[in-house]
Amino acid sequence: MRAGVIGIGQAGGRIADLLLYHSIWGKHKGIVPFALAVNSAQAELRGLRTIPKSNRILIGQTAVKGHGAGLNRKLGIRIAYHWIHSIMHPVTEKVVQHIDAFLVIAGLGGGTGSGGAPVVISRLMQMYEEPVFFIGILPSEDEGKLMNLNAVECIQEIDGMGNGILLFDNDLWKKEGLALDTSYGVMNYELVKPLPLMLGAGETAKDKVGIKVIDASDIINSWAGFGYVGYSKMKAKTPRDRILPFRKKSSIDQLSPAQRCFTAVRNAATMKLTGECDISQAQKALMILAGPPDELNMEGFSHAKQWLENAIATSEVRGGDYPMRGWDSVAAVVFLSGYSEIPRLGIKLQNIESADKEIEETD
Ligand code: GDP
Repeated sequence: MRAGVIGIGQAGGRIADLLLYHSIWGKHKGIVPFALAVNSAQAELRGLRTIPKSNRILIGQTAVKGHGAGLNRKLGIRIAYHWIHSIMHPVTEKVVQHIDAFLVIAGLGGGTGSGGAPVVISRLMQMYEEPVFFIGILPSEDEGKLMNLNAVECIQEIDGMGNGILLFDNDLWKKEGLALDTSYGVMNYELVKPLPLMLGAGETAKDKVGIKVIDASDIINSWAGFGYVGYSKMKAKTPRDRILPFRKKSSIDQLSPAQRCFTAVRNAATMKLTGECDISQAQKALMILAGPPDELNMEGFSHAKQWLENAIATSEVRGGDYPMRGWDSVAAVVFLSGYSEIPRLGIKLQNIESADKEIEETD
């Protein structure tokens, strides 16, 4: 799936930047044909590494003079509203490149991203037929009531707009004892790690056609309400391992390829996902199994898919394999979605299916 990415605010911009980095330099090229960073804080735009300068859009200069919206999300809404043409103009220019969907990314607890994301999502939905997905960063508990309130208000506004929200919970992933910047760097790495596989699996190149191919529409149809993604990787046997019989064997070596594939999927679905979620309440699931072609075992794949069908609330599981020549591991990505509540913040979606809703400017 090729996604046009728009990161808003500090968190949104940094995560968009990292995703574009993977799309340019990683194994899954071209998944992000363009990425824009939108911010009212000039210094944060300057700190980005990969998004070209021409795609960094400073908004709200006359209101905040390049210093950001603080935690004032009403100001964030107002700025996004008044500068919407500065945001949409580059989008219109970029969308001539083929994309399957938009991916809007923002921290839910701040001002610019939390206020601006609903405005941008609403406008994208009015202007384009492509689905609009949102990646929202939940503030951690200790960031205080205002951030939590901003998150609640942002979700309430997005409720009924867009085609699904992938959540990443800073509370679950924050790294105690690290400098904030390093901690954000680690968290962003963890969030972005599974995304190239998830988006790239639908983009089949000649030498990468799997047995069970998924396409962009499978990925698109796997989103609903809130979703969380999990990732797991297991070392596979390399040709070198097979010709060195005296090498010390680990417990992973004892697994057959089928067991390895199954275990990778089960771990991805049950270990630490991007947020706290109960697998038995998921309404949809997407599973992607990637690895060297001779390690992608169809018996293991089918077993894992059946297991996932039984584990979630419905049996709506889409899945595909993604041969990766030269890899020495089997990796699995599982995306669980269709959740309507975030119990930690007392949030409940009223409209889990997408609908067109317009966002009003507030004073
Ligand atoms: P904005 O620039 O006004 O939109 O505000 P931020 O993007 O800084 O949003 C504040 C929320 O995002 C808080 O919960 C921060 O902890 C979180 N945040 C800020 N930067 C990052 C980041 O790079 N990664 C992650 N995971 N969270 C971030």
